[in-house]
Amino acid sequence: MSIKKKVAILKKLTKNELVEICKNYGIKGYSGLSQAKLAEHIAKNCNLSLEELENLANSFIEQRLVAKVNDARDHFLLKKVQIEHFSDDMVIADVAGYRVKISNLGKEDFSYSCDEKCADYVYQVRKGRYPFCKHYPAVLAELVYQGLVDSSKLNNITGRVLEALLNLVEERKKEEGLLKPVGRDIENSLRQVVEDYVEISRQNSKVAREKYHSPPEKVFEILTEQAFQLLEFDTIVRTKESGWDLLVIGTHATPPYIAVIECKTATSGVYDYITRNPDYLIKLKTYCIDLVKEKLLGVYKDYVRYMVVVGPDFPVDIERFTMQFRHMTGGIKLSFLPAQTLVYLVKKYRENPILTHDLLAMLFESEKIIRKEDVDRLFEEADRRIESLIEIARQRLRERFREFAARTADACFVKMDEILLQTLIYDVLNALQPDLVKMGKKSTTGVTTIHLKHDYFKIWEKVLNGLVEEFVRLLEEESNVQQKRTELKEDLIKFLELR
Ligand SMILES: [Zn+2]
Repeated sequence: MSIKKKVAILKKLTKNELVEICKNYGIKGYSGLSQAKLAEHIAKNCNLSLEELENLANSFIEQRLVAKVNDARDHFLLKKVQIEHFSDDMVIADVAGYRVKISNLGKEDFSYSCDEKCADYVYQVRKGRYPFCKHYPAVLAELVYQGLVDSSKLNNITGRVLEALLNLVEERKKEEGLLKPVGRDIENSLRQVVEDYVEISRQNSKVAREKYHSPPEKVFEILTEQAFQLLEFDTIVRTKESGWDLLVIGTHATPPYIAVIECKTATSGVYDYITRNPDYLIKLKTYCIDLVKEKLLGVYKDYVRYMVVVGPDFPVDIERFTMQFRHMTGGIKLSFLPAQTLVYLVKKYRENPILTHDLLAMLFESEKIIRKEDVDRLFEEADRRIESLIEIARQRLRERFREFAARTADACFVKMDEILLQTLIYDVLNALQPDLVKMGKKSTTGVTTIHLKHDYFKIWEKVLNGLVEEFVRLLEEESNVQQKRTELKEDLIKFLELR
């Protein structure tokens, strides 16, 4: 009796989900079975009660819906949702060119329809397999964001699905400065990258589903973006299905650069598709030339300099394709970044954030599989550069200070005025270009602008400490050598008619 009921419940799940149940509950003999046969096989062979099975199935379905909400993320955050009409019984919206109509939202006789172009809607929703496509939560998020509807009255959106939707709304409000940011959530994203990134790169769907409610490929992209953000890069994710996954922008470099990132997972732990199918290089070429470089104008075109494939690991002979790629693309350098190396780099950087975007470009320049040793060398180079930066800044301070002191100092004071002080500070800051400072002139007013790179606070700390030490030493030297009488002493001698 209950077997039939169990089958009915299990039939709501996809084949992959059923296979996952077999794996998790040690049910053998499932390979090669169709979805329907799998449902029967599990119903007969599992020890779960009807209620337990129902809960399990519901949690799978809930996770699928959470994933749908997450798919709506980019549309909503990139402001691709236009509410064209809003009234009590009808909402009409445009989501990135897809037309969504919702009638009687929050009521019993609710219904919605998506564009005929939406394959998800046509093949999944209309056939009753899914309650909604990703365009539906995108519209709802926009409505909640604009304060037009009550979030507790959204059809088909409850529990964790609602939680995911509200998270999106909150994220947008934070981005727009409407919510006070609680500081960038560095600790949390660092923990996720360190704990799960390598597993996800090997397509661990259990971790992906349970912790991130999305398929491993998608989670890998999200975590890759987080990892680059932890290195203080600006990032842009692609919203369309095909093409590159991520742009990493080295804003602080002089000149800035763009690295086009492609994320690849592999169950085997080694992504070797390119070595077996070199034609794939043409696709990668399209990603960075047609889909990025050709779309940019003027000087921005030249910023596109690197292509990086991120994956679990790569076979050594993949490196032989980098030269070919450079020739094909007119100079774009291709490198391979294993997940483990990226985790190592991010961890090391967060402990000691001294790598600049200029330095990090050396990794993308390398045209090889980037290893931990390369990361270590980068940190050694960073130390060397900071030392020389400190030396230059100290020297500049010393020269300037000496100059003023020679003119103005007496036994008690080195005499400064506002203008001298300004020159001194300007000169020292000038010496910190372009590593820590960007100077320019406002074209409208001609006023000098000074931009401090706050992401490099650790390097600032080292340089400023060096300057403080130098300044104290200069004062001390001056105190030891200066014998010239003070003005006060000169005046007293004059009044007392001592000469
Ligand atoms: Zn749709």
